[in-house]
Amino acid sequence: MNKTLKVKCPQCSIEFNYYSSEFRPFCSDRCQKIDLGHWFQESYVVPLKENVVDTETQENGNETDGGDEHNESDYN
Ligand SMILES: [Zn+2]
Repeated sequence: MNKTLKVKCPQCSIEFNYYSSEFRPFCSDRCQKIDLGHWFQESYVVPLKENVVDTETQENGNETDGGDEHNESDYN
């Protein structure tokens, strides 16, 4: 007996038979690859942000003297 379960593809929202797809929970290999692409993009963004923070803290250490004077005159 063949089972039938109608589900919606999380990528393109097309209804298909869950048990007839080799790429479930996606309807096709195309939708599966699109979802994988999103994961790869997110994993690239995180290490890039950490590198930017590192260089900023190094630059701030050189100019602490000038920045403090401006802040005090604003509060008074
Ligand atoms: Zn799909």
